[in-house]
Amino acid sequence: METGDGGHKKWGFRANNACGITVRGVLETLMDATNPEDERQTIPLGHGDPSAFPCFRTTKIAEDAIVDSLRSAKFNGYASNVGFLPARRSLADYLSRDLPYKLSPDDVFLTIGCTQAIEIVMMAFARPGANILLPRPGFPYYEACSGYRKLEYRHFDLLPDKGWEVNLQAVEALADENTVGMVIINPGNPCGSVYTYEHLKKVAEIAKKLGILVIADEVYGHLTFGKNPFVPMGVFGSIAPVLTLGSISKRWMVPGWRIGWLVASDPNGVLKETKVVESIISCLKISVCDPATFIQAAIPQIIEKTTDEFFNNVISILRKSAEFVYDQIKDIDCLTCPNKSEGAMFLMVKFNSTLMDDINDDTEFCLKLAKEESVIILPGTAAGLKNWLRITFAIEPTSLQDGLLRLKAFCKRHAKK
Ligand SMILES: *Cc1c(COP(=O)(O)O)cnc(C)c1O
Repeated sequence: METGDGGHKKWGFRANNACGITVRGVLETLMDATNPEDERQTIPLGHGDPSAFPCFRTTKIAEDAIVDSLRSAKFNGYASNVGFLPARRSLADYLSRDLPYKLSPDDVFLTIGCTQAIEIVMMAFARPGANILLPRPGFPYYEACSGYRKLEYRHFDLLPDKGWEVNLQAVEALADENTVGMVIINPGNPCGSVYTYEHLKKVAEIAKKLGILVIADEVYGHLTFGKNPFVPMGVFGSIAPVLTLGSISKRWMVPGWRIGWLVASDPNGVLKETKVVESIISCLKISVCDPATFIQAAIPQIIEKTTDEFFNNVISILRKSAEFVYDQIKDIDCLTCPNKSEGAMFLMVKFNSTLMDDINDDTEFCLKLAKEESVIILPGTAAGLKNWLRITFAIEPTSLQDGLLRLKAFCKRHAKK
């Protein structure tokens, strides 16, 4: 018999229910809500995986790198726990291009996508009483991961009126002697923000003052198309130690290849001194799963040979799509967008339910939209911000236009008369 909290009268065991919501889970629920009788194609404006769209197909250089690596028959065995050395070396060089110091291959650890990099960080810092500071809105995998590692998390707000910058006073107020670090996602998911050099420097200075490290999720690194260029947090690694997280999933549009990295961007060696690096290595050993060897072995070729033409083309499509969505949203009364998207592949828009006849919040909005228009949008609640919506524009431009037309028709139909 159930006792309400998952407990049982007869059996004493109980699962850890701290895993919480995931973006994927919410999107699946919305997909299930679509009407099977609607003959129109479902338009996915909620996901973060553009790989299925012909205009975002990855470069042939990356595909060839995988084929070459596989056909060589040299990479069929287990890899080492920290990753294949030539891949770590080429990533160290790639990431050093934007830094005022040089990373060594020993600073780089290969992971199964950026996702495993997040997991390893949470694992390395989870200990009784410790806490970590997370952005709100943010990427719910951090909450899920801290939850099941029993690492307490506390939220600081990102400020929509200031281009989604970090509320630095809030960070200071939240931290205590048990705080290990703060997470920054730049370019931002879900906000599409790109932080300035000055703001990132302030983040590093606050971290230094508090004696904590910065965990920089740069999975959307270089995917910028607004006024601010991408500045890696590691640039400020001499102010406060930085753990940089990334992957080829987003910039190369191959999230299914599952390869990412965790990098100590720490020229002063604080993370070695405090044995954080040691702990990361033992967590990688314990987790005993590493990215497929032949994909690791393809990394040098992917990183070194991909041409700017591929990147520039992707950026140009994203820039046009971001502008298009921003302009279309202006025509919809119940939605407002305080900031144009300048990076990643998302836009956050605010939903005003008081203008609606029969829709009370973001979740209801997204459910009804899925049901009536077969358009999927992520409710802000899933990213920690109620009555906002996250729109992904990284889809085929023609589908995006269709999606926005349906969104407009939907909002009009449900508006208060
Ligand atoms: C997609 C995403 C990840 C996960 O990246 P993978 O390489 O697919 O594991 C991590 N953080 C953020 C903010 C993301 O959007």
